Amino acid sequence: MNTEQKAKYYLEKIKSQDKKINAFLHLNPNVLQEAKQIDSKKNKGRLAGKVIAIKSNISVKNLPITCASKTLQDYKGTYDATVIKKIKEEDGLIIGMTNMDEFAAGNSGESSAFNSTKNPIAQNKIPGGSSSGSAAAVAADFCDIALGSDTGGSIRNPASHCGVVGVKPSYGLVSRHGLLDLSMSLDQISPVTKNIDDAVLILDIIKGKDESDTTTFDSKPLRLLPQAKIKIGTLKLKGVNPKIQNLIDNKIKQISTALGFSITEIQIEHIDLAVQTYYPLVYVEFFSATRKYDGRRYGKKIEDACGEEVLRRILGGAEITKAEHKGRYYNKALQIKEIIKEEFASAFKKVDCIMLATVPILPRNLGEISKLSPEEIYAEDALTCPANLAEIPALSLPIGKVDNCPVGLQILCAKGQDEKMLSIAKQIEQL
Ligand code: GLN
Repeated sequence: MNTEQKAKYYLEKIKSQDKKINAFLHLNPNVLQEAKQIDSKKNKGRLAGKVIAIKSNISVKNLPITCASKTLQDYKGTYDATVIKKIKEEDGLIIGMTNMDEFAAGNSGESSAFNSTKNPIAQNKIPGGSSSGSAAAVAADFCDIALGSDTGGSIRNPASHCGVVGVKPSYGLVSRHGLLDLSMSLDQISPVTKNIDDAVLILDIIKGKDESDTTTFDSKPLRLLPQAKIKIGTLKLKGVNPKIQNLIDNKIKQISTALGFSITEIQIEHIDLAVQTYYPLVYVEFFSATRKYDGRRYGKKIEDACGEEVLRRILGGAEITKAEHKGRYYNKALQIKEIIKEEFASAFKKVDCIMLATVPILPRNLGEISKLSPEEIYAEDALTCPANLAEIPALSLPIGKVDNCPVGLQILCAKGQDEKMLSIAKQIEQL
């Protein structure tokens, strides 16, 4: 199939099936014309033939960048984010913009202002979030690859719930220039794919030092290298559904036997504070990031147009940053972030990677989260947000099902060891 035929195949599928799933908010009106142009090129780029969906918080020139919020309902990208520029240079074809939790604040896909996304694999379940549409689009076979963002698990959580691969790179591997940020010290643009090879391909293209994002670092080309004598560290944490834990434990045993990897149980002493550390940081940074949505330059004033969770974070962030608190909460959170980061760094002196579940529970029924408290919802990020605090790479690999719902195994490595993490995942994928 050439690019145009492939684009037509996906468009047909989206037309007939996305009414139920709601993975896309907008399709690229020029997609077939752009596909033709790619097909007509003599020397094609490395992404030629790949059809790619983009989360609605990453700037693509002339496409609607709404963050699934009424605030930005009519806003169109005025430039390409660095990752988009790189994708276009390599002839990747952008098919459309995906649904998400409003401003990436959530883990259900149900806080979108434009109808929630449904899980294409597990009937009547949420797809997870906040990159709900990106994971659902890949799982439903509406595209080859999707980009999302991961601040505390937003790529890995929906990847786990939808049975696809989701990779959060080391902080700084990929440029955030052109990402409408939730929390700039934690966000990474991240891919969802059907397999590890595609994750390596796209990451290798979008990564790299970028003058427009000073946190980015240089890195050599990503290659998959067979790993031997790997020491797996396992983390047993409270609150994980026993059936999920059982599947994870059995998988780790199988990996150990088949690949000759050893298993050591490890501890990250302050990991149970991760959620309480993560949220104040997000509230404060999000509050600050949203000050530009004052109704003058972009769309509507955010406080007048946003949903409940976004407003909670804005008001919470405003409170935490009040002068009378003298930075007490934010500074405390930063201190614990550093402690967690150091604890991971010393764990990686003993083990090569850490394996645990991606999400502690199975995907909830549609609509169920409206009955939950914010604390109950935030608790679902307990296994994913530690990697963001520690700035380390983490991925979710589908390993099977519990009660007909996909379950992901999470693999973490030390900062900068994205290649090692992907190589280990590839060996597991091949089992
Ligand atoms: N669920 C987390 C939150 O609401 C993570 C979101 C994300 O990674 N963008 O902040």
